Amino acid sequence: MPPAATQPNRARRALLRGNAPASLVRPPGAVAEALFLDRCTRCNDCIAACPEQLLVRADGGFPERDWQRGECTFCGDCIAACKSEALLPLPQQPWPWRAVIGENCLALHGVTCQSCRDVCPENAIRFRPGTATPSLDSTCCSGCGACIAVCPVAAIAASKPVSAHD
Ligand code: SF4
Ligand code: SF4
Ligand code: SF4
Repeated sequence: MPPAATQPNRARRALLRGNAPASLVRPPGAVAEALFLDRCTRCNDCIAACPEQLLVRADGGFPERDWQRGECTFCGDCIAACKSEALLPLPQQPWPWRAVIGENCLALHGVTCQSCRDVCPENAIRFRPGTATPSLDSTCCSGCGACIAVCPVAAIAASKPVSAHD
């Protein structure tokens, strides 16, 4: 994980390059935003429960997923810790986020880099034989965020399908 002080800079770089950093990414299992704000007591038990320390106390004291902190294993510990039904089991409230590779990807500009592929637990990122450019299969992507955290130029962003927006 990079030092906390570098995180706003990475987010700003991503924004300037057209990969808007995902905002309001609630913990796994979060109900629709309006209902979440109604139900969440800001107890932050989910933040304390995450063994990967992926969740942070953000605006208003509500929890958010910080993409720079690495890979979510979807262990469900955050959901189990939530007593107010702001977070529901994943089969009921599937994780909607998927990774998208942006134009500033080093490999698209002739620089050898396969860091995202190397960390992807779902083998969703492949470099086709004979090419040095990545291709991301969103049907295989779990939205774990491992590739987002590891990309040295913040070229990967998280995106939600239109149907999944609150
Ligand atoms: S455990 Fe539930 S109620 Fe507490 S901060 Fe997390 S989402 Fe909100
Ligand atoms: S599912 Fe597990 S690893 Fe992912 S945010 Fe929740 S507690 Fe952390
Ligand atoms: S977010 Fe998707 S593409 Fe990126 S490492 Fe996780 S599964 Fe692979």
